[in-house]
Amino acid sequence: MIEYPIPLGRPKVGASGLTGHWRIIKPVIHYDKCTKCRLCVIYCPENTIDLLEGFDVRIDYDYCKGCGVCAQICPQKAIEMVPEVK
Ligand code: SF4
Ligand code: SF4
Repeated sequence: MIEYPIPLGRPKVGASGLTGHWRIIKPVIHYDKCTKCRLCVIYCPENTIDLLEGFDVRIDYDYCKGCGVCAQICPQKAIEMVPEVK
């Protein structure tokens, strides 16, 4: 995973545990549409989208809360919100 050049905090296990488990819908990235623009990384309010080598993006489902901001901001409509299956 690439370290960010700006000091963004990363989610970690706190008193509430893995907070992504509260989610009822989740984002799914369609990599065939993704242009690696990284806007989703910048706009995710939970900072749960990791930037990998090669500028691939990956959602950390342990902490993603399913807010849908990434799906709204993605210019390629490459992120789809789907029901969470528990
Ligand atoms: S905003 Fe969309 S196109 Fe840009 S990196 Fe994220 S998923 Fe890919
Ligand atoms: S749904 Fe919300 S918390 Fe989850 S990756 Fe997208 S912007 Fe981040």
